[in-house]
Parts: sequence; C-alpha cells; structure tokens
Amino acid sequence: MQIILKNSALFDGTGNDLIKDSLVAFENGIITYAGPANDFTVKKNSRVYNLSNKYIIPGLIDAHIHLDLHGMADTYLENLVENKLRAIRAAKEMETTIQAGFTTVRNMGSVDYIDIAVKEAIKQELITGPRVLTSGKIICMHSSGESYFSGMYREADGVDENRKAAREQLAEGAEYLKVMATGAIMNPGGVPAAPQLDIDEIRAVVEEGKKLGKHTAAHAHGAQGIKNAIKAGVRTIEHGTMADDEAIKMMVDNGIYMIPTLSSNYLMLLHGEKDGVPQFMMEKAKEISEIRKKVTRKAIDAGVKIAMGTDAGTPYNYHGKNSLEITRFVDENLINEKDAVIASTRKAAEALDLGDKLGTIEKGKFADLVVLEKNPLEDIHCLLDPENIIMRFKEGVLIT
Ligand SMILES: [Zn+2]
Repeated sequence: MQIILKNSALFDGTGNDLIKDSLVAFENGIITYAGPANDFTVKKNSRVYNLSNKYIIPGLIDAHIHLDLHGMADTYLENLVENKLRAIRAAKEMETTIQAGFTTVRNMGSVDYIDIAVKEAIKQELITGPRVLTSGKIICMHSSGESYFSGMYREADGVDENRKAAREQLAEGAEYLKVMATGAIMNPGGVPAAPQLDIDEIRAVVEEGKKLGKHTAAHAHGAQGIKNAIKAGVRTIEHGTMADDEAIKMMVDNGIYMIPTLSSNYLMLLHGEKDGVPQFMMEKAKEISEIRKKVTRKAIDAGVKIAMGTDAGTPYNYHGKNSLEITRFVDENLINEKDAVIASTRKAAEALDLGDKLGTIEKGKFADLVVLEKNPLEDIHCLLDPENIIMRFKEGVLIT
C-alpha cells in the first residue's frame, strides 16, 4: 500500500533547504516521491498521514557503536556480565536506539558475535531495532589490555594471521572489518599515539574484505597509525584524534571518512573519576582532549569528509542518546545544524558505502524517515528530546 506523509516541512538531506509544504510517498519500503506537495497526485486507497507543523528528516545513522557495551563507568565491569545477558541487553538497547530516531547503526566490535545474533533477531522480527551493520570482533595485534574487553578482540600477529582473522569474521557474517591501527584509550597499557598493526597486516585484512565487497574501518588515534591504515586501503578512520597535516591531506586525497566520536571523550571528562571512570582512562582522555578539538576542526577546514559515530556503549555513552554526538558538532562550533544532520544521515550513509540506498529522502531510496515536532535546524538539541520524536519509519515500516 502507498503511504503518504503530507503537509510537513521536509529536510531531505541532499543539501536542499527545508521544503515547507511537502509530500513524501513510499510503497514496499521504497520512496516513490519526495518534494513539494502540489506536484503529486495521491493514489486512491493510500494511507495518508497529515503532518502539518511537523518536520521530516532522513532516518539517523550512527556509524560507530558497540551494542553489547552498556555505558558502564569502568569498562572492565562489562566483562563480568555473562554473554547471555549481554545479548538480551543489547536487544533492548537496539529498541531504545530506533526509538531515538536511529534507523541504521554500524557496530564496530562486539563480544563473541553478539552483533550478528542481534541483527538476525531484528531481521526475524523477534525484536525491534535499527538496521544493524556488523563487524564481528576487532582485529588487533597482541598487546596489553585486551583482557579489558574479553571476547571483543581477535588477536593476530603477522600477515597470514591477519588474513585468517579477517576470514573468520567474514565467515561469521561480518559486513565490515575493523582493525586496530593504534593503541586505545580504554585499554590499560594502550598508547593511543603508538601504531599497532603494520601496513602489510592491515592490507591483508582489507584485501580479504574486498573479495566480498566489504570495507575495513581502522581505529586510529595517532598520526602514524592513521597513515598506515590509509596506505593499507581502509575506508573509514575511527577517531582520527591526533592526525597531523600529512594524515589530514591523505584523508582528503583518498576520500577517507573520519568519524571523530566526540561524545566518548566528552562524557568521560564530564563524569571522570568521581563517577567511577578508571584513572588510567582519565589520564589519556585528558591528554587527548585539546588536540582532538584542534585536529577535528583542522580536518573539517581541510575538507575531510566527516561522518557521525558515537562510540555508544563506552563510559556514560548510552544507547538511545546517540544524538548527543550531533549536538557536540554544533556545540563545539565545528559545523552548523544543517551539516550536523547531514553528517548523521547522507555523509554517514556514504561512509558506509550505502549512499545509493540510505541517508537522504529521495525517490528510489529506502523509506527511512523520522517525523519531529520541532525543527532541528533551529534547535539541534531537540533531537535529544524523546517527546520530539513522533514517528519513525524503517524501510517503510512504522516503528511503534
Ligand atoms: Zn569504538
């Protein structure tokens, strides 16, 4: 049946200004028309929603989450939750996430393939949730601190081991691969500035993914690790915290998407040791805080393509509050409201190489849409208000 949303203001995500008196039509999950209302004749027997004074935006996309982390202050405590319970919890988190207007998420590392199980449960309509894109385990070199995320990493040393690790993830059903190109903030002993997997090791992972048309994402804070990952052929740089001028230029020249994950650092500093964030994390979080701001601004000014990802699941970074990242873009004066929404829709879809299906409200794309009470281009913070989110459609299906 044809579904019609009419009389609302439409922000289609293409870069167009708001279309005041709009109409969006879709059928079988695909948009058949989006534009001014006067250009369209409604078929008989359509289901019509009259949405005057409302706003429609594309379904939001979070390009970096961890669906089985729960936002605990000390990530080590996540290990103490049994996987069975973790999976049930993750299912609930995905329901919360779609309620918040997020119709697509890319999981960037999960314990024992919980992401793939949750995706299947959503597909089988056992639970409600966004379109989950899965990465399986994170491929990393042998290093200290992996016990902090027991079961989330696949250690691999040398080219052959990395190739095997990539094949394992793909065999389990991973749709993206993720590698550690530098140390991490949340691993004790991890040095964010230090490179980890070598170029040849990352390249082996990238090549295995490419055989199946799948991309590789690189966790990378330090400049050398970012450059190694780009030389090895990754598509997205997760964090990008300490990129130098050369690394920024390489991102621009190679069309790499950077996903700054501002929320994780912001929330760690907001809560800190008083709220149970471990001291070693705080030391590293404080150390990178200033450089992160400068580098992200520099990258944007240089023309690096920025996509939105929250790192949801990290300390106090709760699922369902994903829009905080969109507000951080604006509150840190990095980009304006319009570009912040685009970073979370069109740009995020492009980063995931799904720009032909998702990210804008255009004929031929999936009908992923969010109906809002208020205009986010005027007040971006309204995206954080559950009362403001009136309707969500994923592939044409109204999610209640
Ligand atoms: Zn992450």
